[in-house]
Amino acid sequence: MAKSAFFFGGGKAEGDPKRKDVLGGKGAGLAEMTSLGLPVPPGFTIATDVCNEYSKAKRVPEEARAEVDAALARLEKAMDARLGDASAPLLVSVRSGARASMPGMMDTILNLGLNDAVAEGLAAKTGSARFAFDAYRRFIAMHASIALGLSKEPFDRALDEARGRVADAKGIDRTRLNAEELKRRVPDADIPAEELKALVQAFKAIVKRQTGKDFPADPREQLWQAIVAVFASWNNHRAVVYRKMHEIPDDWGTACNVQAMVFGNLGDSSATGVAFTRDPSTGEKKLYGEWLPNAQGEDVVAGIRTPLPIRSVVRAGSGGKADESLEARMPEAYRELERIAQTLERHFRDMQDLEFTIQSGKLYMLQCRGAKRAARAAVRVAVDMAKEGLISKEEAVLRVDPGGIDQLLHPTLDPHAPKKVLARGLSASPGAASGHIVFNADEAERRAGQGKPVILVRVETSPEDIHGMKAARGVLTARGGMTSHAAVVARGMGKPCVAGVSAVAVNYETQTMTITVYDDAGRPTETVTFKKGDVITIDGGSGHVYDGAVPTVSAALSGEFGELMAWADAGRTMRVRANADTPLDARTARAFGAEGIGLCRTEHMFFDEERIQAMREMILADDARGRAAALAKLLPFQREDFVGIFREMRGLPVTIRLLDPPLHEFLPTEAKQIEALSRSMGVPAQKLQQRTKDLHEFNPMLGHRGCRLAITYPEIYGMQVRAILEAAVQLGAEGIVVHPEIMIPLAITRAELEKTRAIVDGVAREVLDKAGKPVAFSFGTMIELPRAAILAGELAQEAEFFSFGTNDLTQATMGLSRDDAGKFLPAYIETGILPRDPFVSIDQEGVGALVELAAERGRKARPKLKLGVCGEHGGDAPSIGFFQRVGLDYVSCSPFRVPIARLAAAQASLRARGQQGGHGTA
Ligand code: PEP
Ligand code: MG
Repeated sequence: MAKSAFFFGGGKAEGDPKRKDVLGGKGAGLAEMTSLGLPVPPGFTIATDVCNEYSKAKRVPEEARAEVDAALARLEKAMDARLGDASAPLLVSVRSGARASMPGMMDTILNLGLNDAVAEGLAAKTGSARFAFDAYRRFIAMHASIALGLSKEPFDRALDEARGRVADAKGIDRTRLNAEELKRRVPDADIPAEELKALVQAFKAIVKRQTGKDFPADPREQLWQAIVAVFASWNNHRAVVYRKMHEIPDDWGTACNVQAMVFGNLGDSSATGVAFTRDPSTGEKKLYGEWLPNAQGEDVVAGIRTPLPIRSVVRAGSGGKADESLEARMPEAYRELERIAQTLERHFRDMQDLEFTIQSGKLYMLQCRGAKRAARAAVRVAVDMAKEGLISKEEAVLRVDPGGIDQLLHPTLDPHAPKKVLARGLSASPGAASGHIVFNADEAERRAGQGKPVILVRVETSPEDIHGMKAARGVLTARGGMTSHAAVVARGMGKPCVAGVSAVAVNYETQTMTITVYDDAGRPTETVTFKKGDVITIDGGSGHVYDGAVPTVSAALSGEFGELMAWADAGRTMRVRANADTPLDARTARAFGAEGIGLCRTEHMFFDEERIQAMREMILADDARGRAAALAKLLPFQREDFVGIFREMRGLPVTIRLLDPPLHEFLPTEAKQIEALSRSMGVPAQKLQQRTKDLHEFNPMLGHRGCRLAITYPEIYGMQVRAILEAAVQLGAEGIVVHPEIMIPLAITRAELEKTRAIVDGVAREVLDKAGKPVAFSFGTMIELPRAAILAGELAQEAEFFSFGTNDLTQATMGLSRDDAGKFLPAYIETGILPRDPFVSIDQEGVGALVELAAERGRKARPKLKLGVCGEHGGDAPSIGFFQRVGLDYVSCSPFRVPIARLAAAQASLRARGQQGGHGTA
């Protein structure tokens, strides 16, 4: 077996800090910081492999145990203290740390090593029995819950009882106070040593009662229980859910870090906090973070107390409130933190997320890792760092997750819309959302499942709420800061979140929230109560909460975003087009940088009131003459559509797909519609009904659709081609250059293309002869069926371009119905039978292999064959990487995904060129 335990301390660290796969993210950061000579308490990291061994065998291998013992001995020597030695007590933290950050998903135990004797020893050594027994009671509760699997509830209750006794002793009338209010009146710090000692005994009694055994007094036993609990937490429910969501492989395992404790709760010159080297919401280059004086570890992130800002911000209207920043209260520690932040940014060439503790005025670093950041911040940090010369422009392009920039492309609140601000909180995760209030995660999931937009409102969130956060449009919490669970997770998900809205009082029992509304001078003006189901709007960019639904406006694509996209465009070889069916879609697509239309689905043009009538007449006509009459009605509409689209896309290619869906999709379904049609066509309703029945298909997806329509009714495609070319002629006369690409759907044979090509050429001759001017257009086909892919060489004899319709190709190749797979596909993904939804991200080995084969065979037959993709996969970053490797010329996706595709295409070609490294070409 490979090495299992890696020591760090005294300026040196074992193991390679680049190997996050071995040390986990936290372990790697600790090793790196130690090697950089930063103040890190010593400790050791148990490798991820040991977790994997544990997952398999449910025990830690002997060799690993021996290595841990040796590392512990080394730690004791370094600290000149020993685990379980009352005269020189060593306390440790035991924390998980996987290769990818999984905030709050796995477990941590602090203050390990305490028993009655050690607690007395610690009290004597620190001169504070209060401190020692506070640490002890925290440890028992944490260890009991995490390592022994007991419920937290009886411990919380015992703590509340102790708090009640303190309140009584202080003469506080607590008859009308609820638990929350009591906690505010008697904070933890007011519970005296004697009460804490009693609490320790009460906690131990709870453990004995629930497990039938004494709480382990032997610190080594505690340590092993804790290590095993950390490894087991890799497979707890919330970690498994998180991994699924973020596509983290189950076999990575977590490392376990055992580190000497430093104490932020040793009095007023001690503190604990978290910091980002830049603002995680905006990317602004300023140390950003939160701290709590006289507090321990998890207090800041757990949202139990609302933390204070690190940097001094003298806010207008703060009413002369004392500056409670770390910068003001502990300026020396703050300056050192700032220095360390800069060192780490320069070293890692990326924004860092830091955890620190100040023990009696001395700063210690407990963690550093690449910081999670909102998409807006990711863009700004990447662009700024390139300009600072820290990274190259190419690296900046590679730094931003294309999936994440989705957030930036979504609407923000209409600045001109009337709106009533109810409250302000922290702008924890950008974006705006309206929805119905729900107070728990299950309900959020249920209502969202019914198609209702919901806002999840919680006092604070915990990892148990993840599924509700995922389902909700946005999240509002009454408590907690920028690094609270809600804030971190929402940013990761790209969901709007307003956190720490202190004016909100949530009552889970009555399912209501009451907001105290303040005026600008900070005076309360009214209280408003909202019930479950009422509608509010939150703006995670400003931290505002509004009454009702506030309208939104499109995103702005300028500033750093524009710069990054320009760098991306310079780095990419594949073109990006949009799927657009209307002039408005076309304009949006162009604004997002589309370089053409890759798919115009003409069927979407026939659903207007007036048109559907003519369409139905055409379908239900008895003969070619009847059809021609109906088509003549449709022609002017269709021509007008193309004029509008071509005008928007002047100078760029526009791929128009001729009619594709089975005709019965257009048919009337209700008696009322049939009657209307019967009146206008002068055909008896009964006859129409019969005709509708005749058109019924058992399996329309494999039925009379695509170019099969033109084999039976060539005049349909004839009308569409006429509309396209007449529109092109009209715009040509205005001096507008257009590049129509006429595309045949669902072909499987060369003969289908010959027949449809004849229709196109026939109409073209007529229209262009009449116009007396040529229009350059091209003729091509979609590759949507396995046979088409296999016989691509044949099809390329006729087609000048291929566009891969990967939606249908996925359906047909995998035999998965696009419309029905939703019922069982989630189970496939959950159980790992399929790695991801093949309709979202292309199945590279199966469907992808057909794309590759068709590209190869097609190009062999026609070297200049143009290749693109217009299925949903054209907007999915991993799929785009695949299409780059296969050598497609362009991808086409919905207008809102165009920037994502531009960035993903740039990353794909930069990766292909192997330009991931390199400094300072900015
Ligand atoms: C496809 O099949 O991938 C495609 C783009 O066509 P549609 O989604 O309209 O069937
Ligand atoms: Mg299709």
